[in-house]
Amino acid sequence: MLTPAEQTAACLAEHASRGPRYTSYPPATEFAALSPANVQREIGRVGATGRPISLYVHIPFCRSLCAYCGCNVIPTRDETRGISYIDQLATEMTLVSSALRQSPVVELALGGGSPNFLAPRTLQTLMGAIEKYFDVRADARRSVELDPRSTSSSQIETLATLGFTSMSVGVQDFAEPVQDAIRRHQSVVQTRWLVDYARLKGFDDINIDMVYGLPRQTETTFAGTLASVIDLAPERIALFGYAHLPDKLPHQRIVEKAGRVLDSYERATLLVMGIETLTKAGYIHLGLDHFARPGSRLARAAVDHRLRRSFQGYVEDLADSVIGLGTSAISSTPRMHWQNHAKLPAWEDAIAAKQIPVQRGVTLDRDDRARRALINHLMCDGHVDLAQIGREYSCAPATYFAHEIERLRSMPDLATYDAGTQQIHTTAIGKLLVRNVCMVFDRYLRDSRRSASYSKVI
Ligand code: SF4
Repeated sequence: MLTPAEQTAACLAEHASRGPRYTSYPPATEFAALSPANVQREIGRVGATGRPISLYVHIPFCRSLCAYCGCNVIPTRDETRGISYIDQLATEMTLVSSALRQSPVVELALGGGSPNFLAPRTLQTLMGAIEKYFDVRADARRSVELDPRSTSSSQIETLATLGFTSMSVGVQDFAEPVQDAIRRHQSVVQTRWLVDYARLKGFDDINIDMVYGLPRQTETTFAGTLASVIDLAPERIALFGYAHLPDKLPHQRIVEKAGRVLDSYERATLLVMGIETLTKAGYIHLGLDHFARPGSRLARAAVDHRLRRSFQGYVEDLADSVIGLGTSAISSTPRMHWQNHAKLPAWEDAIAAKQIPVQRGVTLDRDDRARRALINHLMCDGHVDLAQIGREYSCAPATYFAHEIERLRSMPDLATYDAGTQQIHTTAIGKLLVRNVCMVFDRYLRDSRRSASYSKVI
């Protein structure tokens, strides 16, 4: 007889299809050619509202390439590349910031790659440029992604002086055989040093990224990693499913050569184990792959229904527009998503020509905006009030979403729809498979061939 955990894992494995992570809607796979002039007009519209904005700055460099990596990364040990990149970023800031003078920056995130590829002085130069070109509020939330294998004490001190209090640290897995397979070696001691030193310097919001589904992971090794991460007492934990897409990311072939990538049931078993262990340790399961300690900023935001899905996962909803700077950075406003050139030379050419370095994007029509709001509620709150969506987007929801409601009725184990209150609620298992529920409302997925390009939902 199966234990409850085994039953849950079997149910998850049964539903293990592929689908978008819904860090945006429409998903980035729907982005198409978009002109710089279009983007410039949209930035002007955002600026004219004077509403607060978030800034995201992408630093693409890493000292080496981890074999499982799915980010846009340039592996190099040449630190001077960071200096010239920052110069070009400053030029990009001049292209977008004049229209945003009235828009206070309430949130600033440095991501990558590895922002700690930049030496302390380069980090200061970068922040100097941001403060020069944007109206950054003194109390703006400042966060940074850091690699424990290469962050120095002087970088932490510099970041603390520059007002950073939030950081995200990659761990993935502490077991040595797994680290061999993914070519990323990082000890608990190294990670603990970074966490402890950052806390000492005033960081009060620390996230740790873990990954399940990697070769050589077993329930025993994963339990060990979970215990070590809990011992570090981060405010937040993200437990991502490994996205094995070697056709898109050929370096991931190294991972499959090192060992068998786990199947759906094995992945589901580790996920269920992670959820059970982390919730037993006191963490709140916010949704999908994110956990937060009670009382932390993200947990408070979840209680107040102030969570939002963004390209960084679950975040506190501080601004409705994110302006992305740097190669491959994605921007998102209420009416448009766009992505900068992913290849560094193309991004550099656009900057040299004093042109917004947009590669592709999408303008949201009313239908997109309604579905985006609906999917955001499902992902962040686990339920959605269709009547409210109808009021906000001027549609009669029972008719407008009749086809989707019909499809929901065929999956009662994942979600329920109450025709009286017009509320959709995900079930306990549907919370874990919320991507499947959202896929019902994704009009772009009506072409089933598209799903093959996405990662597994579990
Ligand atoms: S440190 Fe992070 S971004 Fe850089 S290669 Fe490794 S996984 Fe990718």
